[in-house]
Amino acid sequence: MSKISLSFNWGSTMEEKRRKKRKRRLTPEEAERRRTARAAREMQLSARDNQGEVPDEFREEEERRIKNKERSVRRARKEKHQQILIRALGLVAVLMVLTVIIFFVVNDYVHDKQEQEAYKAQKEAEIAAEEAALAARRASIAEAEKLAVIYDYDGAIALLQSQENYDTDNDLINAIAQYTAEKSALEAKDVTTVPHIFYHSLIVDPARAFDSSKWAADEIAGINAWMTTVEEFDKITQQMYDNGWVLIRMRDMVEETKNEDGTVTFSQNKNLLLPADKHPFVLSIDDWSYYHSYDGKGYGDKAVVDENGKVKIQYTDADGNVSVGDYDVLPRLNTFLEAHPDGAYKGARGMAAMTGYNGVFGYRTDVAYKTGERLGKDQAAWLEAHPDFDWDKEVAEATKVAEAAKASGWEFACHTWGHLSVTGKSVDTLATDQEKWQNTVANITGKTDTIIFAHGNDIGTWRDYDASTNDVYAYFKSMGYNFYANVDASNQYWVQIRKDYVRQGRIDCDGLQMWRAKSGEAKTNVFEAFFDVNDVFDSRRPTPVSATGKA
Ligand SMILES: [Zn+2]
Repeated sequence: MSKISLSFNWGSTMEEKRRKKRKRRLTPEEAERRRTARAAREMQLSARDNQGEVPDEFREEEERRIKNKERSVRRARKEKHQQILIRALGLVAVLMVLTVIIFFVVNDYVHDKQEQEAYKAQKEAEIAAEEAALAARRASIAEAEKLAVIYDYDGAIALLQSQENYDTDNDLINAIAQYTAEKSALEAKDVTTVPHIFYHSLIVDPARAFDSSKWAADEIAGINAWMTTVEEFDKITQQMYDNGWVLIRMRDMVEETKNEDGTVTFSQNKNLLLPADKHPFVLSIDDWSYYHSYDGKGYGDKAVVDENGKVKIQYTDADGNVSVGDYDVLPRLNTFLEAHPDGAYKGARGMAAMTGYNGVFGYRTDVAYKTGERLGKDQAAWLEAHPDFDWDKEVAEATKVAEAAKASGWEFACHTWGHLSVTGKSVDTLATDQEKWQNTVANITGKTDTIIFAHGNDIGTWRDYDASTNDVYAYFKSMGYNFYANVDASNQYWVQIRKDYVRQGRIDCDGLQMWRAKSGEAKTNVFEAFFDVNDVFDSRRPTPVSATGKA
């Protein structure tokens, strides 16, 4: 059955009806004529009947004819009704059949469509899952590569082995095999021969630092002896990297075991693994404070945190233009190591040794700026020049810098609050200073287990610290200090790793030591293994460089 046959039937029914309608439709004149003829004939018959002229058989015949006609009319009407009924029923049947067919077809179609869509969705989900797994695998391989570059082969291998299918996927199998092979080629470094170098704040503009029209001779001599220029720092950093020096933390030199009584015990780290042609070194910076005495001498003003959360330095040039950039060791080294991540072991960075008497990082955070009591001359002058000074804001800004520095891998060390020369000081004096350091520096940097003595002093000789005979050591130890550092530029390294402490000598990478090495004043060139001092030494320095200046 189809729509065509249905419309055909429907068409023929309409045609017939129309034909009948045409038959029935007589003009009024025709109808009137027929009625008049029928009446005339009946009158004629009736008249003839009255006159007895119509014979009986004729009348009977006429009656029979009329009856027949009536019967045929009735039959025709009945047939017509039947026909209409049959057609209607046929139509209903056809519609029902069609409805059923359409229902099944549509139902089938919908069902098929649903099945197709479900299949498609399933396939898409499978592809998405595969792509996600592939992306995760690629990300893990890239992440493992980053770990391997910083010599964390165990971390790289563990990361790859945490991936699904790590033992069946070729990329993962190859990467694991490669890192396992590279790790087996590493060698454990002797942690008792690790050098430690340090810098003060970098001179951005030597013309200002060495301006004899502005600064006294002993001031210039001090800057020349203890400071390093940006250009020197860059050359040292690049040459040390090229010569295979890899930055480690002082704590990477040891294994630290926590004891039940809360104390710690140290032993040499026998597992400081680096390639054969790489050598570990430690780095620190002293007095990251931008003291008032630095003003106008071509150093940075203060540290700031940029929009990427990185520590940068604000610098004001000779013309008063203010800019923010890598104007000191910390951001400069961070930028270098971001470009050369294999220059640092497991993301190690340096240590900043902090005093507190002029605040930290160029922020005037010492409590004296808040109370206005016992202010130095330069402090008072500074406060007068900054009438909008807000101590709480200053501490908050400095804390942001400390957090950002730590987030980039740096650690903080105590350098005493007042840049004290510890030699010969009583425990009482040191304790008073320490209390100030804890209250005005550790509140910003956090606590530390490292103390880097100012002026290159120490609290003992080269012999081991002994708490039973050295009350100053006993005091610092009781304050939680386990890592100690002095200055010793006579050797490439000086390391003491003992059960209860770790101590290291540091080499000052500054004008004085470079001059001594370059000029031959020093018996040996302590920088020989690190960099070419003739190449590095900044020709803008006044020479000779002597230690006669003010620190
Ligand atoms: Zn210092």
